[in-house]
Amino acid sequence: NRLYEKNVKFSQEIVEKTSPLMSVLLTWILPTVVIIGLGQLLLRNMQKKMMGGGGNAMTFGKSNAKVYVESTTGIKFKDVAGQDEAKEALTEIVDFLHNPKKYTEIGAAMPKGALLVGPPGTGKTLLAKAVAGEANVPFFSISGSEFVEMFVGMGAAKVRDLFKQANEKAPCIVFIDEIDTIGKKRDNGGIGGGNDEREQTLNQLLTEMDGFDGKKGVMILAATNRPEVLDKALLRPGRFDRRIPVELPDLAGREAILKVHAKKVKLESNVDFNQIARATSGASGAELANI
Ligand code: ADP
Repeated sequence: NRLYEKNVKFSQEIVEKTSPLMSVLLTWILPTVVIIGLGQLLLRNMQKKMMGGGGNAMTFGKSNAKVYVESTTGIKFKDVAGQDEAKEALTEIVDFLHNPKKYTEIGAAMPKGALLVGPPGTGKTLLAKAVAGEANVPFFSISGSEFVEMFVGMGAAKVRDLFKQANEKAPCIVFIDEIDTIGKKRDNGGIGGGNDEREQTLNQLLTEMDGFDGKKGVMILAATNRPEVLDKALLRPGRFDRRIPVELPDLAGREAILKVHAKKVKLESNVDFNQIARATSGASGAELANI
């Protein structure tokens, strides 16, 4: 009243009382929902990690081999410089994938797989892609290490799934890079009793290679730079019975590789490839591409 009398302006915000229902919601239900949500998120993350990116329990044990269709490889033999011997050996495979009838009619059996052997960076992957590109067939590529999983039996399941996919897409090429990671000799009794998972994966691979029908046109190419550690069973006829050496390029090969890669860059007219090739003895294709 005294303020009114003196004509003083004054104000006060009206505080709304929260309803009891609202306060229960805020103090009990909201935190619970947040915690459960967080838990779910963590769980899902963990599952994703365990399944190698599958993310869903349904993809458990599915191979994550990528499917390359013809347009994406697009690499032809002309993109691989040098390596004439390897190319010649692979031409036969291309021919078989083109017209398998020619071979089956006379009862000839084609090799089921070929092993590309050579130091790193010499173009093994490139050659396998070129075979797919030349034959115009799908190209499945997987690295040996991708088969090795946390749980025993998952690698084997992946092998099974990979071959199932490949059989559906036949004729096609399956390329296994670094096959030595799963194809090591199975003789490690020693400490820890060896690696069960790896062994099972290898066994499954051997079984699948025996099992599938070579006439359908599934060709398995594998690459390794350590052929001496491979299990004998992998190398016997009917499996990887062909060995295609992919060696470091010689002088002419180096020059050719330099030329292939120089096509993509602008050059001064006085660049002498022969001179560079002479100065880089022992360099691999990858190193030359880098230069
Ligand atoms: P590897 O599988 O033998 O380790 P890659 O096939 O992956 O080697 O080769 C790596 C890179 O080196 C290729 O992408 C390519 O650019 C280059 N390269 C290697 N060899 C050759 C070659 N003979 N001709 C052209 N490029 C090559």
